[in-house]
Amino acid sequence: MDSNHYTQYPMNTQSHYAPPLADMAFVVEHWLNAPADWQRMSAFDTLNAETARMVCEAAGEFCAGQLAPLNSGGDLQGCTLQDGQVRTPDGFAAAYRAYVDAGWPALACDSAIGGQGLPGLLDATLNEMIVSSNHAWAMYLGILHGACICLQAHASDELKTTYLPHLVSGEWLATMCLTEPQAGSDLSLIRTQAQAADDGGYRISGNKIFISGGEQDLTENIVHLVLARLPDAPPGTRGISLFLVPKLIPQADGSFLPNAVYCDGIEKKMGIKGSATCAMRFENAQGWLIGQPHRGLAAMFVMMNSARLHVGLQGLGHAEAAHQLALAYASERRQMRALVRPESTAAADPILCHAPVRRIILDLRVWTEGMRALGYWCAHVLDMAAHAPDAGERQSAQELAPLLTPVIKSFFTERGFELCSDALQVFGGYGYVHEYHIEQAVRDSRIAMIYEGTNQIQALDLLQRKVLAKGAGLAPLLDAFRGEAAITSEHSAALRDWCDRLEVATQSLASDAANDAELPARAAEDYLRLVGTVALAFAWCRSARVADDAFAHKRESARYFFDHVLLSAEHWLRRVQAARHVY
Ligand SMILES: Cc1cc2nc3c(=O)[nH]c(=O)nc-3n(C[C@H](O)[C@H](O)[C@H](O)COP(=O)(O)OP(=O)(O)OC[C@H]3O[C@@H](n4cnc5c(N)ncnc54)[C@H](O)[C@@H]3O)c2cc1C
Repeated sequence: MDSNHYTQYPMNTQSHYAPPLADMAFVVEHWLNAPADWQRMSAFDTLNAETARMVCEAAGEFCAGQLAPLNSGGDLQGCTLQDGQVRTPDGFAAAYRAYVDAGWPALACDSAIGGQGLPGLLDATLNEMIVSSNHAWAMYLGILHGACICLQAHASDELKTTYLPHLVSGEWLATMCLTEPQAGSDLSLIRTQAQAADDGGYRISGNKIFISGGEQDLTENIVHLVLARLPDAPPGTRGISLFLVPKLIPQADGSFLPNAVYCDGIEKKMGIKGSATCAMRFENAQGWLIGQPHRGLAAMFVMMNSARLHVGLQGLGHAEAAHQLALAYASERRQMRALVRPESTAAADPILCHAPVRRIILDLRVWTEGMRALGYWCAHVLDMAAHAPDAGERQSAQELAPLLTPVIKSFFTERGFELCSDALQVFGGYGYVHEYHIEQAVRDSRIAMIYEGTNQIQALDLLQRKVLAKGAGLAPLLDAFRGEAAITSEHSAALRDWCDRLEVATQSLASDAANDAELPARAAEDYLRLVGTVALAFAWCRSARVADDAFAHKRESARYFFDHVLLSAEHWLRRVQAARHVY
């Protein structure tokens, strides 16, 4: 077909992402009342709502202005590998330099190590906007913040001095090298070897696959965080150590020596094509131990909650972008007369007037805004866990965060992908072609369900390791939900009811699991979806309660959530109960 079939809808080669600043401010200022908490935390007591808005606005300008325009071209061009060198799509490296020059990499890093010391909550808003604009580009910085906090917590002073300033500033980027051909979800199968060397360092040998940004042309140096085994390592995950392995080794005179780290290939893949997913070979490469021998997973643990939150926010970022694209298209595209517009004399009405399309757009809005409230809540809980002035408050936040993060990671990424697919339907045939961006969003969003621990592994973590194996179980989360339900409001009774049903379902899983060891594994995914849906009810209950007249539409959206979307909780609950049957 020639390009004339686009005449009614001009070629849409530029993305039209508009940062959802008003909704972000609603969550930060009304839903969370975060500025009041910042005042109480010495780490953030100079920050106020106005400054936070300015940060979000500037971040949004960068994302919409510099990253979104590169998204479609990056997907078409992809990355190339020649003579071990990766070339990222046109514009990616320049955009990264602009990002570094503006100081964004250091946003949430501790000021003690050269960061701007802003709350993780603001970093969450930044991350959402980056992914909405360009998920592939976002991959290059995915591990940077986590690498900084891991080194800060566990590296020797010498490693910190040599590497941290370059990472915090974004001058160098980092990777996380876990996966090997035979070791994915099961890291106990890792074979990469580490040998102590005479110079006090180590020599690392082995092959890693699927390493995001393992090689790239955005930064001169790349700091790989590599999991490997020492010769005396006990079997299993308790025998894994963490090493820092730079691409270029800094010398005392300021020069660099190349390390024996090689990129042997980059994957051809379904989405995020502008992100180089690399097969890496370490050939007796020089490395340095981070933390204690055999305690590599513990050293990485420090970044686990924030890493999961960030991947969850990828689902939110995609849902937001899909909502914007679908709403704009449905407002313009006209087909058939609509029953809701009897007064219209037009030959055809915007498809937004047709009930099935309207439903999809409403779903997109309600899920996206609900996920934003929950995701930012999680970011704020992590800030409270680290910085709340009161020890009891920190403790409560520390108990909540590990329950919330697997839910955010799994539930958001699954919904993010499904919502992109729903949004594609709004475009009809146009959705299936590249120019309208939504088919790329469907492909790009899919990976977030797989990496950073697959969604199944997250579900097992929630139910088996946290809810059933630990004394407090789901109580910290239920307590938070019930705190909202205790304030009488339009939806508090419905929320209370679902808290009770979730608690009963949890108790009966716990008692049945005593005689059926596989039951939690059969129930875990639907249980996580049930928890996620009830968490969303919590989010919408509070949104409706705190919305002032400027956000009156929130009350409408909350009604739609409680009348329609929450019905899915019934479905997940029935499936959790049905998990008793073995198939
Ligand atoms: C684009 C991309 C980027 C990536 N970036 C990185 C990176 O930067 N660094 C890095 O180290 N890795 C990275 N990965 C690897 C990623 O983290 C792994 O693919 C992921 O951990 C899953 O491992 P696997 O692919 O070996 O699948 P497997 O572990 O083989 O799992 C296959 C399936 O079995 C399921 N499964 C496995 N065990 C269980 C169980 N006990 N119970 C229930 N279900 C189970 C899984 O959920 C999955 O559905 C990336 C992958 C991709 C595709």
